Amino acid sequence: MSIVSLLALLILALAYDDLQLAFANQQTTMAENQINNHDNLSNDNNTSSSVPKVVFLNFYDDEKDQYTNAKPILDKYGFKGTFFIVCSWTSSNNTDRMTWHDISQLYREGHDIESHSMTHKRLNKLSEDALDYEVGQSKQCIYNHIGAMPTVFSPPHNLGWNNATVINTIAKYYDLSIGGFVTGPMFLRCDGWKQSSTQTDCRTYSDNGTLNHVNRYDIKERTHNALDTRYSHNDTQIFDKFVQLVDSQTNYNKNGIIDAVPIIGYHDIDNNKTITSTDVNLFDAEMKYLHDNGFKVLTMSDLGYDEKAIIST
Ligand SMILES: [Zn+2]
Repeated sequence: MSIVSLLALLILALAYDDLQLAFANQQTTMAENQINNHDNLSNDNNTSSSVPKVVFLNFYDDEKDQYTNAKPILDKYGFKGTFFIVCSWTSSNNTDRMTWHDISQLYREGHDIESHSMTHKRLNKLSEDALDYEVGQSKQCIYNHIGAMPTVFSPPHNLGWNNATVINTIAKYYDLSIGGFVTGPMFLRCDGWKQSSTQTDCRTYSDNGTLNHVNRYDIKERTHNALDTRYSHNDTQIFDKFVQLVDSQTNYNKNGIIDAVPIIGYHDIDNNKTITSTDVNLFDAEMKYLHDNGFKVLTMSDLGYDEKAIIST
């Protein structure tokens, strides 16, 4: 075994089973901490089957029904979500949005509270000052209200992942950012996007100065509302697609290493059948499936970026 390079890796710092998961850059690489954990798993006579199935559940736009409808279902199955907050909406008198009291309660109960800007503007169309306000002030705003600093950002409408000014501003304040939409899982290895990219490492910029296809400010998620609208709230069909998505990771995650994770974004959990709605019973059925099949539900704060991991072959 020889060390071939020292590269930046994304890792998941997971708080369960002492298992750490790395985003490696090359086909046959393995980070040192993975080797250690792999040995531990081997000692248990429990190798590939012990790879936990994982999923991230993200919620956007401070929708009140996330508190009144989704939270009791998450509670029932013992899951924690990541809530991306638009700071000014929460302070408004709009009863369709969560209050700071609701959000503080989520935080106290172990949910992850992250930033989705101050006013939900399209970030790629703003002046430098306005951009800094949307990105930076929303971090301070959340801290002022719940006492915890968000470390993950999500640009409204996922706009800005291909704009260096936006990315550089996000990078001033946050460790990670949501960037784009995908139909399948998010590949943690930056060389995992073979159909759309020849990228081999996790750097934000390539040598010629352009933004790389995937980097720590371009984490890609599956938006559930794409299924809700495509299948016209036919919950049987949508449930099947959900199961396909969350189970697809078994094609990639083997030998104690997690390379692909489904990250699912929700908006309204209600029965109004709008373009932002996911039916309440469907959401319950999805959470029950995750629960009954032993999935680990992770939050975005479980995701990290490790510049020091040693890659060896
Ligand atoms: Zn939004």
